[in-house]
Amino acid sequence: MTIRPELLKNIRRTEPYVPGEQPQNRVIKLNTNENPYPPAPGVREVVQSMDTDRFRLYPDPTAEPLVRALAECYGVGKDQVFVGVGSDDVLSMCFLTFFNSEKPILFPDITYSFYKVWAQLYRIPYECPALDEDFRIVREDYYRENGGIIFPNPNAPTAIYEELDFVEDILEHNRDSIVIVDEAYIDFAGKSAMELIDRYDNLIVVQTFSKARSMAGMRIGYAVSSPELIRLLNDVKYSFNSYTMNQTAILCGVEAVKDTEYFHESVRKIVETRETAKEELKKLGFTFPDARANFIFATHPEKDAGEMFRALKENDIYVRHWDGGRIGDYLRITIGTPEEMKALFDFLHEYIKR
Ligand SMILES: *Cc1c(COP(=O)(O)O)cnc(C)c1O
Repeated sequence: MTIRPELLKNIRRTEPYVPGEQPQNRVIKLNTNENPYPPAPGVREVVQSMDTDRFRLYPDPTAEPLVRALAECYGVGKDQVFVGVGSDDVLSMCFLTFFNSEKPILFPDITYSFYKVWAQLYRIPYECPALDEDFRIVREDYYRENGGIIFPNPNAPTAIYEELDFVEDILEHNRDSIVIVDEAYIDFAGKSAMELIDRYDNLIVVQTFSKARSMAGMRIGYAVSSPELIRLLNDVKYSFNSYTMNQTAILCGVEAVKDTEYFHESVRKIVETRETAKEELKKLGFTFPDARANFIFATHPEKDAGEMFRALKENDIYVRHWDGGRIGDYLRITIGTPEEMKALFDFLHEYIKR
């Protein structure tokens, strides 16, 4: 049955975000930038000793233990931390709270594709300045009037990291706009913009537990900013859903934040594997922008990326590919364990020779 036009005219229709595949069989999964290592050991202990009787109660709406752990970890006030169900939830709340201008918000044409989905969903006007031919963000494009700015650093899917002077320049040129820096991959890259928060009242830094902290399945993200902006963000959250974070996620999150040693070791291993992977890809003839995230965005001068993507998939190696446009010739390859990467390179070695 089709929906009658009279009904349809009042219904919100959106073009949803398309996440990478989550195959249920065992494959080498290098397609959604997950961490190949388990979360900190304390997380398992929390889950195993969970008092399920407590599930009858609502969780702490402020997620206080997690907020406190993050505040201590980053040396900010508890009133400077906002937590949500993955950074997707946090970012979506940020769009709703901070992007309310008639002027368009700005984000790169090649970037995390969720930004466009939220802009459309919330009916926020937007413009997407093009990355340059090396896939770099052109800072001057963000000197114009706007209703807010968002970009990931490192950017996705390019994996390019911009130093803090770049972020600061954008902040300087946009004192009257909110600037959100999406730092989903910052731990693999370099300095976080969090150190600029005291100096720029227009800055919001968003991070996630999904990548460096190995907890994509738990859904935890957070924003750090001034107490004033965090209060406004909380006001919107409490107007939407008070209990976004469940009890288990709050407690698991605390354990993951506390174990800084495990965290740094896991990041170190991935960065080491990434650097080796760059050498291997070069030997195979691939080129790529310098990857500073837990993935590499690579192209091959002789091989069609779409065909390569499908050949890999037939051999149970999943990477990410977007059809068409400027990135149609590229594969985004998540850094897995050294063993997973070896399987990828063994396959590619044979494939490239064909
Ligand atoms: C993975 C990712 C996110 C979202 O992560 P969550 O799992 O929702 O925390 C946000 N931004 C970018 C650029 C990402 O790659």
